[in-house]
Amino acid sequence: MSGDTSKESAETGGDTRTTGAATGSAPAGGVLTIDLAALADNWRMLAARIAPAACAAVVKADAYGLGVARAAPALRAAGARTFFVALAEEAAPLRAAVPDATLYVLGGLLPGNVDAMLAADARPVLGSLPEIADWAAACAARGADLPAALHVDTGMNRLGLSLEEARQVAERGAGFTPSLVMTHLACGDTPGHPLTALQRERFAAVAALFPGVPASLANSAGCLLPRSYHFDLARPGVALYGGRSLASAPALKPVVRLEVPVIQLRTGEAGESVGYGAASTLTRRSRLAILSLGYADGFLRASGASDARRGAEVILAGQRCPLVGRVSMDLCAIDITDLPDGAVTRGDRAVVLGDGLSVDDLAAHAGTIGYEVLTSLGRRYRRVYLGG
Ligand SMILES: *Cc1c(COP(=O)(O)O)cnc(C)c1O
Repeated sequence: MSGDTSKESAETGGDTRTTGAATGSAPAGGVLTIDLAALADNWRMLAARIAPAACAAVVKADAYGLGVARAAPALRAAGARTFFVALAEEAAPLRAAVPDATLYVLGGLLPGNVDAMLAADARPVLGSLPEIADWAAACAARGADLPAALHVDTGMNRLGLSLEEARQVAERGAGFTPSLVMTHLACGDTPGHPLTALQRERFAAVAALFPGVPASLANSAGCLLPRSYHFDLARPGVALYGGRSLASAPALKPVVRLEVPVIQLRTGEAGESVGYGAASTLTRRSRLAILSLGYADGFLRASGASDARRGAEVILAGQRCPLVGRVSMDLCAIDITDLPDGAVTRGDRAVVLGDGLSVDDLAAHAGTIGYEVLTSLGRRYRRVYLGG
């Protein structure tokens, strides 16, 4: 975090401070702080790593939950010129945020979506022959060579032309000039997975069929692979937002910080249970801090604790303290018995993300990945942007 409070701005207006309840306007829910300077630093670090290949930014799903209206301009200011979203509907808000950038829509073209694409001056990533035919028809109807990308499937069986279809398109022409040819790694996050090298080899052969068209393969994990994986343009997403793309990835800067208030302190007796389903039983007289944080905030229910399993941890009074019992919709309980008496008072903030607790740490407790933690971040947090 930059710690530069002079640059803070709260989306919801009012008191922009992230700590302190002196004015009486303390938020009753969580405060999510998004460090745009760290986001920009992460982009610059990846861009430097893959140069001379160019570095785009993937900002689908509202910039992985962080807010595309703030994230995209910060990335643009750092130097990003090309942006990717998933849906045609995501193109218009992105266009408003970065008026002069090149925009691609990864999900491609649905019937009837040409106008939406053109209205946002976005380029579809076409992954099937019918999509290519639709785009070629739109070009013909308008007498224009409208740019679009071609997506080739090299081993994931998700989106993209088969290798044979790509060869056909290369031979017969697409009906427009492709502005990018791309593929996507299925196992970039699994070091040494044999599919990764195979995909690179297949893609290199396909890219050679489209001379002069920039080629793109690498996501965040791909940026960390050797140069031969970078081609002309990389498409990192999660690493920009401080998520880990590889267990061994170099530490990028954390971008999100989440603090939530303690709304009640209580004491439970040995043998009593905590929360729904009586899933956790207290083994000693215990002090509990009840947090204003639940699964409706994207604090995944799967990160809850029971007698059989440890749950997530939060930081209170500078110490990591464990969840006890299940995560409710709006609440969860933290065991603070090991903290000194009086170390926590009502209205204090627990750190859920930040101070060494990463989105990947939280994800691990819920049996998921940092991507899901980021894109689940709650809509009712007060959002504060730093360094924008
Ligand atoms: C989401 C996505 C990316 C970004 O992936 P990260 O793992 O978040 O870096 C890149 N390319 C495509 C096609 C994607 O769908």
